Amino acid sequence: SSYLKILQENQMLFNEVLDLKGKIRIYCRVRPFLPGEAKDQSTVDHIGENGSILIVNSLRKGKDSKKVFSFDKVFGPTSSQEQIYTNIQPLIRSVLDGYNVCIFAYGQTGSGKTYTMSGYDLNSKETWGVNFRSICDLFQISKTRADVIEYKVGVQMIEIYNEQVRDLLVIDGSTKRLDIYNNTQLNGLTVPDASWVPVSSTQDVLDLIRIGQKNRIVGPTAFNERSSRSHSILTVHVHGKEFVSGSIFKGSLNLVDLAGSERVDKSKVQGDRLKEAQYINRSLSALGDVISALAQKSTHIPYRNSKLTQILQNSLGGHAKTLMLVHISPEPEAIGETVSTLKFAERVASIELGAARSNK
Ligand code: ADP
Repeated sequence: SSYLKILQENQMLFNEVLDLKGKIRIYCRVRPFLPGEAKDQSTVDHIGENGSILIVNSLRKGKDSKKVFSFDKVFGPTSSQEQIYTNIQPLIRSVLDGYNVCIFAYGQTGSGKTYTMSGYDLNSKETWGVNFRSICDLFQISKTRADVIEYKVGVQMIEIYNEQVRDLLVIDGSTKRLDIYNNTQLNGLTVPDASWVPVSSTQDVLDLIRIGQKNRIVGPTAFNERSSRSHSILTVHVHGKEFVSGSIFKGSLNLVDLAGSERVDKSKVQGDRLKEAQYINRSLSALGDVISALAQKSTHIPYRNSKLTQILQNSLGGHAKTLMLVHISPEPEAIGETVSTLKFAERVASIELGAARSNK
């Protein structure tokens, strides 16, 4: 049938670009130097021809010590938003075939996570980030299949701050709901009381992202202070119905901008800062623990240890396709965090997941 043809075409595209063999894929992005940063001393020495090798010059005490890291792809400081998106697009598209996909942005504060995910300026197309491009792509492709499959696309945006979940799509204090779902139908949804907003045009997506950003800003702490210390999760839920067979399937996409991974010196912070640092450490290590447990094919996966892993449970287990976008800064001062970020990424790269279509 034409539906099968669509599936096969997408699978071919998918294999070509990602060749997912049940592993968590890792892409690394090096951000450019920012105005005011010394441009002559990058810690990134060399990026391999095929983009898969990164050499970090650790510049320690005048000595040139070098480390080689190898990932699925490495994007240098001149890489564009479009280039990043092109390389993850097949993964995004597989959501329309019923997969659960999870994309994490990981790295220290200031390494470019928000730039990659949220983009820089909604009014300037080339700076659009992964979030915006993905949602637009999902409903645009769904429209091209409209003669074979009826799709419904809905979006949820939440923030986890100090283990508290906040709905970012609340408008005038009220939550919105997709009429097609009830709580028990929501595959992968563990925040049942947060808003779900249907999208069917680029304008819908723009409106929704603006609401989310506005709600983030009016939170108890100023946006840029707070955003680096909270995890934000944008979830796209896709519901498909094949016209001929009448069968129903669901897919989901989680786009996660993680809190800054830097270690906070506990002797130097107090009060709220200390509490935030502890919550972040705990949730990022819970994520690491879940990943290790999955890698070891352990019978108990400790999803319950943090809100983050609890919410993402269905996106990290057997049916999921996971990509980690690891971000690093080229600055010499960041070398310690850069190396620990890359080591974390190496550990994550070793995990195996069994990707399968969640057909119900
Ligand atoms: P994070 O979310 O990891 O804290 P940001 O995304 O806020 O980091 O990036 C820090 C700064 O670097 C911002 O001013 C951002 O605009 C800039 N930046 C990050 N990545 C890039 C990039 N690829 N190209 C240009 N500027 C970037």
